[in-house]
Amino acid sequence: MNEENEAAKAGVKDLTITVVYDNNPYKEGLQTAWGFSCVITGPEKTILFDTGGDGSILLGNMEKSAVDPNSIDTVVLSHIHGDHTGGLDSFLRKNHDVTVYLPKSFPKKFKDNVLSLHPKLVEVEQSLKICDNVYSTGQLGRLIKEQSLIVRTDKGLIVITGCAHPGIVKIVNTAKDLLKDDILLVMGGFHLEWATKGKIEKIISAFKQMGVRYVGPSHCTGHKARTLFEKHFGTNYINVGAGKVITAVDLQ
Ligand SMILES: [Zn+2]
Ligand SMILES: [Zn+2]
Repeated sequence: MNEENEAAKAGVKDLTITVVYDNNPYKEGLQTAWGFSCVITGPEKTILFDTGGDGSILLGNMEKSAVDPNSIDTVVLSHIHGDHTGGLDSFLRKNHDVTVYLPKSFPKKFKDNVLSLHPKLVEVEQSLKICDNVYSTGQLGRLIKEQSLIVRTDKGLIVITGCAHPGIVKIVNTAKDLLKDDILLVMGGFHLEWATKGKIEKIISAFKQMGVRYVGPSHCTGHKARTLFEKHFGTNYINVGAGKVITAVDLQ
C-alpha cells in the first residue's frame, strides 16, 4: 500500500458537517421546515446528504451557512420521502456537475427526472465506497429502503441517517460491521417520534453497548427521544438543528 492510501486509511482529520435543513431550529436566520439535509466537507469529495423538502429553503439556508452549491461534488439521497428529496431539483439546476447516489429501489420516474438535469447517477444496492473514507451502508430495510452515510475520521466513524426507517440500531451495527471501527458519532433522523419511552431507552442502551460516543439526533427523532438521549449522553449530546456546524472540536 502506498503512502497516500495509508493516509486515507487513517480517516478524515478536518471534517465539517453543516446542517442546512432541519425542522429543529439551531442558528438564527435559517429557515426551519420538515426534512433534513447536511453538507460534509473535509473528505476527498464535498457531499450534500439529502436535500430537505423545499429547494428554495435549501438554497437559502446554504447561502446563510456560506456553503456554495458549486462546491458540492456528490449528492447522496437516503430515501425516497419528499422531505429528503424535495430540494434536489432546485439544487441540480444550480449545479448539475455532481454524482447523485440514490437507492436502486427509487422509482424509474424519479431517476429519469434526475437524469434530465444531467448529473451522473449511481444506483446503490450493496454497501459501497463513495470516496476515500466515505461509504454508503447500501440500501437497507424492507418497506422503505434507505441508505445511510458513513465517514471514517481519525477518531472513529460518523454515521449520518436521513429518517433511519430500517431502524437506527440496525444501521449503526451495519456501519460497525462494514468498517470494523469505533462509532464516534451518530446523527440525523432516528425516527422515534412515536416510540415509547421504553423503546427509546432500549435504543439508548444499545448505543451504549455499541460504544457510540456522541449523538446528534434530529429531524424525525422527536422531542421525547431527543430529551432522553440528552439525559443519557450528557455533554456528548449534540444539539442538531438548522445551521448547526459540527467540527472535530465538538468530537474530542
Ligand atoms: Zn424524514
Ligand atoms: Zn422518511
